Amino acid sequence: MISVDAHRETVTGLLGNAPVLRLPLASAAGLVLAEDVLAGVSLPPFDNSAMDGYAVRAEDIAETPVTLPVADDIPAGRIEIAKLEPGTAHRIMTGAPLPPGADAVVMVEHTDGGVTDVRILRTAVPGAHIRRRGEDVVEGTVALSAGTVLGPAQLGLAAAVGLAEVPVYKPLKVLVVSTGTELVDAPEPLRHGQIYESNSIMLASAIRSLGCEADVVRSVVDDVAEFRAVIEPRLADVDLLVTSGGVSAGAYEVVKDALTGQGVEFRKIAMQPGGPQGCGRWNGVPVVTLPGNPVSVLVSFEAFLRPALLAAMGHTGVDRQKVRARLTEAMKSPAGRRQFRRGFYTHSEGEVTGIVGPRGGPGSHLLASFTQANCLIVLPEDVDSVEQGDEVTVLLL
Ligand code: AMP
Ligand code: MG
Repeated sequence: MISVDAHRETVTGLLGNAPVLRLPLASAAGLVLAEDVLAGVSLPPFDNSAMDGYAVRAEDIAETPVTLPVADDIPAGRIEIAKLEPGTAHRIMTGAPLPPGADAVVMVEHTDGGVTDVRILRTAVPGAHIRRRGEDVVEGTVALSAGTVLGPAQLGLAAAVGLAEVPVYKPLKVLVVSTGTELVDAPEPLRHGQIYESNSIMLASAIRSLGCEADVVRSVVDDVAEFRAVIEPRLADVDLLVTSGGVSAGAYEVVKDALTGQGVEFRKIAMQPGGPQGCGRWNGVPVVTLPGNPVSVLVSFEAFLRPALLAAMGHTGVDRQKVRARLTEAMKSPAGRRQFRRGFYTHSEGEVTGIVGPRGGPGSHLLASFTQANCLIVLPEDVDSVEQGDEVTVLLL
C-alpha cells in the first residue's frame, strides 16, 4: 500500500504549474498573482479633502469664530482648481482636489455651512482633514506582489492603481466524469437497483470553489468502449480528468479497465475511506481516478485534489487549518491506514483545545452525516483506537 502523503505528492507532481495568463479583474477573483504588479499611479493620486467642508489656510482661522468669503466651490471630480487666496475659503467635498494655497480643511459640521460667506466655529491645525498624494501607495512601487491571492481587497487595490488586467495562474479546467450503469439523473424515476448520481455535483462544486473551471459528464455506463468513446475526444480541451467509480477490485471496473496500460496507474492507498485510487496521464492529459462512494470522493478531494489543484495554481497555503481537539467519544480505526472521519468541532472562548465528535460511522456511503460535519478527524496509521477525551488532529473544512 502507498501512503496518503506519497500519493498526494504524485498527484501534485502530475499537475505541475498552471500557465500564466492575463485576465480582466472581474475574472481573477480567487486566483493567484503570478508576477509583481506596479502601481501606475499614486494613491491618492493628488492631495484631496477627507471631509465635506471648507478648504482654508490654518492661519486665517487661528481665532474663531471667524467669517470668510467663499471664493469657490469644489465638487469631487473637478479638474481645474483655482488657487485659494489668503483670507478666503473654498467649499470642498470629500475626494475633491485641495486648492493650491490651502493647508487645512474644516468639516462642514464646524461651520454654518454658508455658500457666499462661511462662519467657521473651530480652528484647524495645518494638514487637518487632508489626504496626501501617495500616502497609501506610491506610483511605481509594487502594489501587489507575486503569490498574492486575489480577494476583494486585492482586486480593489488593483483597480484603484489603474489595472484592467492582472497576470495570474490559469484557472485549471477539470473534466469531471461519473461512472456507473446504476446511475440515474433526476428527475427520471428510479427503478430498483438504480441510484441518483451525486458525485459529479460534489466534485464540480468543490473544484469550482478553488477557482477552477469544471465540465461534467454526469454518467457513463460501465462499458470500456463507451467510456473511451465519450471521454477521449473531450481530453484535448481540459487540464485534468477526474473520474469517480470503477477503480476497485470488483468486475466491471470501467475506469480501471479502460485506462490500465494507457498511462494511468491504479494503486491502493493506506487510507480509509478512499483506498482505491489511480493517477497518471491519458493522451498526455493528467488523470486522477477516485473511487465511487460519495464520502470517499469528498475525502479524496480533500486529501489529494484540493492541495494539488491549489499548488498548481500558485497557492502556497494548500493545507486545511489543522487543530487539536478532545474527542467526545471513543472511535476505532483500521491499523496501518489513515482514517478520515466526518466530525463536528467546537471551540469555546477561553479553552485551550476545542472538542470534536464524529458525525456518522466510518462507512463511505454515509453522505448525510457529511452534511452535518465541519471538519475531518484524522486518525493516523499507527492508531487503531482512541478513547473519549483523547486529543486528536482535526482538519477544519
Ligand atoms: P464503485 O467504486 O464504482 O464500485 O462505486 C462504489 C459505490 O459508489 C457504489 O455503491 C456506487 O453505486 C456508488 N457510486 C458510484 N458512483 C456514484 C455517483 N456518481 N453518485 C452516487 N453514487 C455513486
Ligand atoms: Mg461503479
